[in-house]
Amino acid sequence: MKIVIIGSGVAGSVLARTLSDEGYNVLVLEKSKRAGGMCKSYYYKGFTYEYGPHILANHHASVEVEKFIKKHINTEKTKLTSASYVKNKICYYPPSIHSAEVLGLKQKVLKEISNLPKKIDHKNFETYLLGKVGPTLYNNFFKNFTSKFWRVNPKKISSDWAKTRKLGESIYKKQMFFNEKWCSYPKNDWNELFVNLLKNINIIYDVKVKRVNLNKKYLVINQKEKIHYDQLISTINIDELFDYKYGKLYYAGYDIVPKIIDLKKQKNLDGKAISMLYYPESKYRHCRITNYGTFQNKKTYPYNSKTILTIETPNAKKRLYPLLDDKNIKIFDKYLTEASKYKNLITFGRLGLYKYLTTDTTVAMVFRLKKFFKNWQEVSSSKRYDFYKTIRGSWKN
Ligand SMILES: Cc1cc2nc3c(=O)[nH]c(=O)nc-3n(C[C@H](O)[C@H](O)[C@H](O)COP(=O)(O)OP(=O)(O)OC[C@H]3O[C@@H](n4cnc5c(N)ncnc54)[C@H](O)[C@@H]3O)c2cc1C
Repeated sequence: MKIVIIGSGVAGSVLARTLSDEGYNVLVLEKSKRAGGMCKSYYYKGFTYEYGPHILANHHASVEVEKFIKKHINTEKTKLTSASYVKNKICYYPPSIHSAEVLGLKQKVLKEISNLPKKIDHKNFETYLLGKVGPTLYNNFFKNFTSKFWRVNPKKISSDWAKTRKLGESIYKKQMFFNEKWCSYPKNDWNELFVNLLKNINIIYDVKVKRVNLNKKYLVINQKEKIHYDQLISTINIDELFDYKYGKLYYAGYDIVPKIIDLKKQKNLDGKAISMLYYPESKYRHCRITNYGTFQNKKTYPYNSKTILTIETPNAKKRLYPLLDDKNIKIFDKYLTEASKYKNLITFGRLGLYKYLTTDTTVAMVFRLKKFFKNWQEVSSSKRYDFYKTIRGSWKN
């Protein structure tokens, strides 16, 4: 069976490795000049950075997932600090009574917390968080940030997004939302993962797949070269694959600009340099500044005197984070129903299944797909749709 995989991000590369190890004939097509998708590391004046902080943390994944990842990349434990810049002050993030104290609002927030409703209203992102943290923390830390980042009213976003990000769960603690056990980062860089995953795998770079004929089972690269397949696995945007016939899915995204600064100029909280500093206020165009040196654990030149930041500014054209709202979930469902009709197609990954994914949850998703892979072409469309639902999973896996 000839398997063609479009895309060499975490989803495409892990699948290519797994299927190739099982003896399948695999070809990967990648539009970029190198593998890794959103997870690749970039090099700049002796530093490395990614498109936003790429931390390996346990987002509900299993021991098998951890083993798989650590077999293919050297990682080491790290710690992150996060904070929010509000009213010209550096406050603890996630928001808590300690953040309120920095702003002189502790008593007000404590009073609000003591009056929180017994039953939380899960109607949307805003009602959920108001019920979890009260109005002062919500308005100062979540409301504007969410409107700025997503470019929509928080009332339009599902409360599931707040739950996925574990927002509002630590109002008494001074902590990060990543748990300690898994929190790690590549010893070298993320690119090592893709070099190892794609060893001995047939891959063509710098080819953007423009046209797929799902009925005749071929795709076209370089204007007119046809590549036939028995099984296509597409990790590109599902709406793009179907030529946007049911409309364009909504995403939030940002541009990044790297900047090198002296260690002396790092922003600190309680004497620790801040890894991720959030800017919820609308007077700032950027939404976050990430300081990579704080979690890369590198001590030699140039890290001994400088560090690298990325300044992250929302950009409507960047398709990075799927929006969890009823409208887009309905559009996605139309595409998924359509995709299920094609037994020789598997749409997959964060773009193919319109799901917020991290490295570990992507690997977990590959493991779920593997259970259905052998029967994929034998079953009915409706059964394949059910398979997709299980593979995509919930916001908890
Ligand atoms: C902003 C951001 C921050 C993140 N932070 C973290 C983090 O802290 N920790 C973590 O574990 N994970 C993080 N992730 C997730 C991680 O980077 C991956 O996105 C995720 O693991 C799933 O990757 P994927 O392979 O499904 O998609 P992608 O990485 O997007 O890969 C898709 C691939 O398909 C290729 N492609 C697209 N269209 C075509 C075409 N027409 N022809 C050929 N090739 C094409 C792309 O070039 C790309 O290589 C983050 C993701 C984003 C977007």
